[in-house]
Amino acid sequence: MKNYHTHTKRCYHAINTEEEYILAAIKSGYTELGFSDHSPWHYDSSFHSTMRMEEDKLKGYVCTLKQLKEKYKNQISIKIGLECEYFEKYMPWLEKTIQEYELDYIILGNHYDETDETGIYFGQPLNQQQLTKYVDSCIKGLRTGLYSYLAHPDLAYYDIYDSFYTQEMTRLCLEAKELDIPLEFNLLGFSTHRQYPNEVFFKIAKKIGNKVIIGTDAHESSALLDLKIYHEAKSYLKRLGIEITEDIKFLR
Ligand SMILES: [Zn+2]
Ligand SMILES: [Zn+2]
Repeated sequence: MKNYHTHTKRCYHAINTEEEYILAAIKSGYTELGFSDHSPWHYDSSFHSTMRMEEDKLKGYVCTLKQLKEKYKNQISIKIGLECEYFEKYMPWLEKTIQEYELDYIILGNHYDETDETGIYFGQPLNQQQLTKYVDSCIKGLRTGLYSYLAHPDLAYYDIYDSFYTQEMTRLCLEAKELDIPLEFNLLGFSTHRQYPNEVFFKIAKKIGNKVIIGTDAHESSALLDLKIYHEAKSYLKRLGIEITEDIKFLR
């Protein structure tokens, strides 16, 4: 069992230390655990995000994880990554950062339009133009080849029964299929009954033939102990006839 969507208290809206997540994962029988806390960004403005680690905390995050990876190497494999947006103008900084810290992978969590300094949150009710922007920026991000998978692909908040939703999400699924990038079934949303994951989206993914990966999106270490919800999600996806994968491509 593997999970690549794990936060830590460094992003200000999660709790528990890296080590507490690792111990929970070992207890549950995970063979591999990937950390993907919310990436900082090197903003042009003095903007401070309340949902990401600060830029100067990144070094501590990576160093801590490297030490823990060594400490627990006989019990679990640890991968070091980040959950990142696709902020086009800041991508050179992100690419430099991935190299500098030798990150194993990043996942695409497309929460904000263009940059969270000014852009809207895609999880709020969107109009057609905004839904199109969500899909366009997901596609641009995936095409960079940097992201191992698309987290909560159905985060965009739009009437799922409208044909425009099907049209746009079909476009997204076709691109992910073409690029062979898995789409995430988000366990946090599933267990807390958010608007995602939604069945309409995953029926589209089934039709297109996308691979789907279950991501815990753990914001507390106990999420990794909840195997009941994990197995419920797996059965749900199997009922929909979806191909489940646990494997992602790494950057190194
Ligand atoms: Zn996210
Ligand atoms: Zn997340």
